[in-house]
Amino acid sequence: MENIFRKISAEKEIFRDERVLMPDYLPEVMPHREEQINEIAYALRGAAEGKKMENMLILGPSGTGKTSSVKYVLKQLQEYSQRVVPIYINCWESSTRHSILNSIAYSLGEFIPRRGISTDEITEKIGEILKKEKKAPVIALDEVDRLFTSQYEEEKVLYDLARAKELFSVDFGVVAITNSNEFLAKLDQRIKSSLIQKQLFFKQYSPIELKDILKSRAKLAFYSESLSEEVIPLCAARAAKNNGDARLAINLLWKAGKMAERENAEKVAEEHVRKAFEEVGGEELHEKLDGKEREVYDFIKEKGEVTSSELYEKFKDESDRSVRNYVTRLRSLGFITVEDTVGKGGKIRMIKIKK
Ligand code: ADP
Ligand code: MG
Repeated sequence: MENIFRKISAEKEIFRDERVLMPDYLPEVMPHREEQINEIAYALRGAAEGKKMENMLILGPSGTGKTSSVKYVLKQLQEYSQRVVPIYINCWESSTRHSILNSIAYSLGEFIPRRGISTDEITEKIGEILKKEKKAPVIALDEVDRLFTSQYEEEKVLYDLARAKELFSVDFGVVAITNSNEFLAKLDQRIKSSLIQKQLFFKQYSPIELKDILKSRAKLAFYSESLSEEVIPLCAARAAKNNGDARLAINLLWKAGKMAERENAEKVAEEHVRKAFEEVGGEELHEKLDGKEREVYDFIKEKGEVTSSELYEKFKDESDRSVRNYVTRLRSLGFITVEDTVGKGGKIRMIKIKK
């Protein structure tokens, strides 16, 4: 039985466990994604059975549960099969061919010295381990479109994976994830046919679906008495209007809870959600922007950060000059920050959403 004093003292608190609302929390249940999770598991099942799995591409807008669903399946696959080595890579974090191969080697238990070794050497090492250990690597490349934004053809790593059998004598299972609709158009036919045997689309969530998602998280995150009835429907409605983004819905719920906590309120109420929404920059902020500006803003927001060349590429119907003007205006309104850094190929302009 729960200690009664712990219970009494806890009753005054809003959160039971706010970690459940953090972006890196991996939910144990994912309402309205059972079908997609099954589809992914079906595609990957070959890997667990010592056969070839179906490589797949997962598409869909931000906050539709792509990353979490894939991580969920990879975790289960690892529990189920000793042979499989699941490797999750976010291509914003490892954005070069070299760093991706490095991560693969590392996941296979190979220590790569700091001084670094050449790509060929890493490739060789990976081949050696795989031959020796009879492992079946399954690699998820999240935000894979990032590989195409560099001038150094980092996307070549996709060729490496496509011809893994030649290169490493072992097939790699590949799950590519992207929210870019243009991704497929950038892929060469040969790669497409070997890396994408199946496509799965994740749709935006409806308000009802968002409500279920929030409910399942709120049960763990809040004490049962600390949410007023209208809070979840309101968070769901707001997020539904903003592209059905579950990330926003959960973030709103968390921020609303923090507002209530700060005010020492008994419960989280409607006003807290409204304030939270202002803080995350909802409607109000959006209203100041028009047409193309808003599109540019939404694109940067979706990515978190982009380089200027990515922006030019995305809005190539506009002149670079007018894209620069949008950036200048967004910056003067305080929505974004612009930072110049020097990369291998010269100056890189990073554009980020202001937090
Ligand atoms: P994407 O990769 O499509 O942008 P994520 O998988 O990162 O989306 O999901 C964004 C957030 O929403 C994460 O915190 C995730 O836990 C949560 N989420 C998304 N879909 C669901 C769902 N069906 N059930 C529970 N939580 C979800
Ligand atoms: Mg994601």
